[in-house]
Amino acid sequence: MSYMKGLKCRECQRRYPKEALYVCEYCFGPLEVDYDYDKIEKSLSREEIESRPRNLWRYRELLPIDGEPTDGFNTGCTPLIRAKSLGKALGVKELYIKDDSVNHPTLSFKDRVVAVALSRAKELGFNTVACASTGNLANSVSAQSAIAGLKRHIFIPADLEMGKVVATLIYNPVLVAVEGNYDQVNRLCSEIATKYKWAFVNINIRPYYAEGSKTYGYEIAEQLGWKVPKHIVVPCAGGSLITKIDKGLKELKKIGIIGKADSKIYAAQATGCSPIITAIKEDSDIIKPVKPNTIAKSLAIGNPADGIYAAATVKASGGWAEDVSDDEIVDAIKLLARTEGIFTETAGGVTLGVTKKLIEKGKIPKDESIVVCITGNGLKTQEAVNEKIGKPIKIKPSLAAFEQATK
Ligand SMILES: *Cc1c(COP(=O)(O)O)cnc(C)c1O
Ligand SMILES: [Zn+2]
Repeated sequence: MSYMKGLKCRECQRRYPKEALYVCEYCFGPLEVDYDYDKIEKSLSREEIESRPRNLWRYRELLPIDGEPTDGFNTGCTPLIRAKSLGKALGVKELYIKDDSVNHPTLSFKDRVVAVALSRAKELGFNTVACASTGNLANSVSAQSAIAGLKRHIFIPADLEMGKVVATLIYNPVLVAVEGNYDQVNRLCSEIATKYKWAFVNINIRPYYAEGSKTYGYEIAEQLGWKVPKHIVVPCAGGSLITKIDKGLKELKKIGIIGKADSKIYAAQATGCSPIITAIKEDSDIIKPVKPNTIAKSLAIGNPADGIYAAATVKASGGWAEDVSDDEIVDAIKLLARTEGIFTETAGGVTLGVTKKLIEKGKIPKDESIVVCITGNGLKTQEAVNEKIGKPIKIKPSLAAFEQATK
């Protein structure tokens, strides 16, 4: 049973059939999935959702497939952690970590978007999937298309972290490392996508793919007892996740599952690649592309596809934006590890570093609920912290040597 009416242009509202289309022919605006919310409201309730298996398809009516899901049966439903120790360190009362660093199967929030994209790609008749990636998407497309038995072509910037490359290659895809930054990889992939009949998950089937991110927001609300937090801090690369968390919460309200969807949304980027933050701070309607230079490679998109929508989401919610230096990223990664026992990648360092700054500046009050979005795993970006975490104490295998070295 489908709840998807078709696609709709975000700018001019023109309607399109639910095919592998992503850009409006008239105004070049991005296309978005259009749902039958009345029908969804009739079939979905809190009790119904809670009775279903613990994966992202428990919100299936709000996801863009016509038939039954085929991928991602262990994806989503990641922990929402009440971070007391970290909260104490930051001087705030009610802090939560939404922890997608342990998402299945490849330890980042990208497993959500890929689970949805592959289910939809198969419905649309594709047998080859592809992506342009800053790392985590490559891991997830590679792994999940291996599970699904689809052919896979994956494109990354050549200077990615070793962990991200290994965690892609292990699933045996065609992996193309392009000598250039992500924005150049993306441009190349757009060209390839017009010539080859592949499902580029974040290009020609982007409208479907991007919807997977809404489940991150649905889960936050469900895990808080069907309530939203006052503040949510979200890392931005292309700017899709932040808009979809907001959209997801608004949808839950629209269909009567939650009473309020009034969270203030905050955007987080690294100073070395912060076009969205700059637009928000300067109250500008355009995103000025930048050349990325940061250790937060998973967020290093200089020309973000959904940048203007991300900025608009933040502004409309009453939130704000902040960026952090590479040193602040590393400090935040270490702070999260030390207080909550979570090892996040550089993107998580960006989000927590920004949260800390926003609290210190008084932009986020200390006595209201805050959710920090941790979206990726630290084992994949070890280069970032390798030289900054001390060394093991090396000893000969004897009790005397141990006591000598540790006294
Ligand atoms: C891709 C990614 C993001 C940001 O996603 P966008 O939707 O492109 O803004 C955040 N965190 C991690 C770890 C990612 O890999
Ligand atoms: Zn249009």
